Amino acid sequence: MTEQLILKAGEQAVSCNLVDYQHEYRDFSWQEARRSLSGLPGGRGLNIAYEAVDRHMDTTSRDHVALRCVGKDGMVTDLTYEDLFLATNRFANVLRELGVAKGERIFTLLGRVPDLYVTVLGTLKNVSVLSPLFSAFGPDPIRERMSLGDGRVLVTTPELYLRKVAAMRESLPRLRHVLVTGTGPAPEGTSSLGELMAGVSPDFEIPPTDPEDMALLHFTSGTTGTPKGAIHVHEAVVAHRATASYALDLRPSDVFWCTADPGWVTGMSYGVVAPLSIGATLVTDAGEFDTRRWCRVLQEQRVTVWYTSPTALRMLMRHAGDLTSEYDLSRLRFIASVGEPLNAEVVVWGLRALGLPIHDNWWQTETGAIMIGNLAAMDIKPGSMGRPLPGVEAVILERGADGRARVIDGHVRVIDEPDADGELALRPGWPSMFRGYLDDQERYGRAFAGGWYLTGDIARRDGDGYFWFVARADDVIKSAGHLVGPFEVESVLMRHPAVAEAGVIGKPDAVAGELVKAFVTLNPGFEATEALRRELIAFGRRHLGAVAPKEISFDQSLPHTRSGKVMRRLLKCRELGLPEGDVSSLERPTHDV
Ligand code: ATP
Ligand code: MG
Repeated sequence: MTEQLILKAGEQAVSCNLVDYQHEYRDFSWQEARRSLSGLPGGRGLNIAYEAVDRHMDTTSRDHVALRCVGKDGMVTDLTYEDLFLATNRFANVLRELGVAKGERIFTLLGRVPDLYVTVLGTLKNVSVLSPLFSAFGPDPIRERMSLGDGRVLVTTPELYLRKVAAMRESLPRLRHVLVTGTGPAPEGTSSLGELMAGVSPDFEIPPTDPEDMALLHFTSGTTGTPKGAIHVHEAVVAHRATASYALDLRPSDVFWCTADPGWVTGMSYGVVAPLSIGATLVTDAGEFDTRRWCRVLQEQRVTVWYTSPTALRMLMRHAGDLTSEYDLSRLRFIASVGEPLNAEVVVWGLRALGLPIHDNWWQTETGAIMIGNLAAMDIKPGSMGRPLPGVEAVILERGADGRARVIDGHVRVIDEPDADGELALRPGWPSMFRGYLDDQERYGRAFAGGWYLTGDIARRDGDGYFWFVARADDVIKSAGHLVGPFEVESVLMRHPAVAEAGVIGKPDAVAGELVKAFVTLNPGFEATEALRRELIAFGRRHLGAVAPKEISFDQSLPHTRSGKVMRRLLKCRELGLPEGDVSSLERPTHDV
């Protein structure tokens, strides 16, 4: 690997590239990516589970470890591709015996245990639809999503069932079966998954699957409000596999670990489908969100490619002194991050502390797969999201007063000049594009204009074609005539040695319209004093001028979504004393599973 450090005027920018990356980007097309998949035998269509599992039965991967599940207690369970093939066949047969039809929805309320992966892939084999729930959800968000999604089967543990579902079972009249994992007795009203699996055949022929058949139903993170159910189809596997290879440089010999919860789209696209479709070994960990534990998993499982979130990386950076030297992380050859903007600071830290740059990439529940990234085969610009994948057309659209793309008579204007802010938009047609919001055709329609999919994110593109995240359109702060995104302010604050993490909001102000307020957590060894507050305000002013934070509050921790994003909406509600609204996706500090 070669690394070069380039410092650009006013902006810390590193340029690094892997010399032995596996791809040149010439000649990429989605058609080509589609052709590299097998498809169901006999030309009977395209099925995600077939590409992730069955296809490997004819290759040397058959005996290769597909899944390595690290339990809470550190015990490791390995499943080879053949084990996974047989178990998912059984699960599909269980569904068939229960009379669960194509298109019917199966919900999971499970931690990262082997049964989860078997359920996901077995469901897809039956051409039923899988919708994952975060296992830490309480009864209300579970009921809301299962009602919206018309759940017919729920797969969970006896404990979770008794604690969260049993009491409200009557309010889910369309839920026909609850299957519980484990070897203990199944609670009343449920059936033992293990017993059902033991009673069916390990042979299953995947029925014909149209690439447009619905496969996954993903609720968005709920960062901005009520979660929306995004519909994904089997065709998405084309993008899962291609992006795993192009954006994450994943190869069959890799040991890949994606820390995302399987309740979130990243935990499905890259925490299940993508690595298996490559034939790699997928590591999963049922443990807590904890830096020491991550380092242990990385070391002990000899992880080579790690996909995680900016929050995780910031936490690691905060404890870097002790941890990265204490553990042997030398197997790691590639780290990628998603979900939130990745501060340049963190990328540079990665290079210094781990000898590896961190590859930020951007996508959404709606896009189903990575769309923009600091890809394996190109230079990284720290702080940027990278460039669109080959095959993805991304542009910046001129925006109106509401912050979103300005649409006049169905037309929008693409900004060609570099470095201008506008709404990030994608040309529809990539394989993993969502095919609708559940029961909300109108909202789906509003997501498109002038031949583009409107992402709701504000970004800019530089002269080299790299995209820089500015803000969610509804997070942009307008202070005394200046527009600023929280991320820019947060990134500046994070450059101060005292600051571990920052969350920034616009607070209504009679004079300025909005004033910038920052919530800050401190690094070990720093105290929340008035002097430090003044110092941070001065630091902000020096670097940001007019849009510097005027108020700073010190906090023990910031509210995060379960997908690892700072919940600025919540910071704002709390600041203004407003009702908190839907907080089902809030990560609670204590884990209850
Ligand atoms: P909701 O739509 O319910 O408010 P959400 O947008 O957080 O929730 P996701 O689909 O999980 O739900 O997240 C996608 C969003 O996350 C993107 O639109 C963007 O705002 C943010 N995001 C993802 N990756 C990046 C990245 N690399 N840099 C900056 N922002 C990112
Ligand atoms: Mg969103």
